[in-house]
Amino acid sequence: MHVLITGGAGFIGSHLVDHHLARGDRVHVVDNLSTGSRDNLAQHLDSAEFRFTHADIVTWPELPEAVGWADRIYHMAAVVGVFRVLEQPIGVMATNIAGCERLLRAVDHCGWKPEVLVASSSEVYGPRLDARLAEDMDLIIQPEAPPRWNYAISKLADEAFALSYARVKGIPVTVVRLFNTVGPRQTGRYGMVVPRFVGQAVAGQPLTVFGDGEQSRAFTDVRDTVVMLDELAAKANTEGLIVNVGGDHELSINALASRVIERAGSSSTIERLPYEQAYGQEYVDIPQVLRTSA
Ligand code: UDP
Repeated sequence: MHVLITGGAGFIGSHLVDHHLARGDRVHVVDNLSTGSRDNLAQHLDSAEFRFTHADIVTWPELPEAVGWADRIYHMAAVVGVFRVLEQPIGVMATNIAGCERLLRAVDHCGWKPEVLVASSSEVYGPRLDARLAEDMDLIIQPEAPPRWNYAISKLADEAFALSYARVKGIPVTVVRLFNTVGPRQTGRYGMVVPRFVGQAVAGQPLTVFGDGEQSRAFTDVRDTVVMLDELAAKANTEGLIVNVGGDHELSINALASRVIERAGSSSTIERLPYEQAYGQEYVDIPQVLRTSA
């Protein structure tokens, strides 16, 4: 199978590369290396089955050819990470929406129908307190939405594009709402609590818990995530649907900090920082993410 992965030098994308090359597929990655890194792909750069293109999905001239070559496309390219979203609220909207629409348009024009998987996010559920976040529930966009929600809004636009291309043009596209994903190669530079805590614990620095630490998340190992993404893209009965992808074991950020200190055998302490200090501006956190339905 020929697999095109946009954003394939990023954290989840690079694990998709590992997964498909190990299965004997041919893989083409396009990535602008804004948050991704060539190092994430280092072990494959000399492989005849692998090709890397350093380009931006919004402007890449060879996108139509790459799409026409592919049997399957994972659209992972996006501006991600809470710190980057807060720094670049316009860039998030522009890149995430334009990149996805351009990709789907190229698929529509390519003359056949590769399987497409579009990455969305659990962020679209916003600050809900429901015990179960289901794909068909109503979503809340807060008035005067602070820049933090631009990421969720951009992903909702991508979802609407994807489902519309599926309905109107018959493109076999599945949307996945990814919950917190963790594992090797994840960087804490742009947010992402687990690599930040691990780095702090190993360095013997205080672990910076933002807010009161009672907010919680359900984390999934990226190596499980890529298996789920592969299966969802392959299944015909998920076409035109939105599917949650994540774990169901919820952990408070306080409990996560204690566990990281314990596992690292670290003498680090826990330091609580008000959100405003942590993110440099007024901030609305997501209080909890409980059960997903996948
Ligand atoms: N967080 C924290 N300390 C950090 C980084 C993040 O306490 O150094 C908190 C953050 O405020 C949030 C949770 O950990 O409540 C998860 O943050 P992350 O950016 O990993 O993911 P998201 O908020 O997008 O789920």
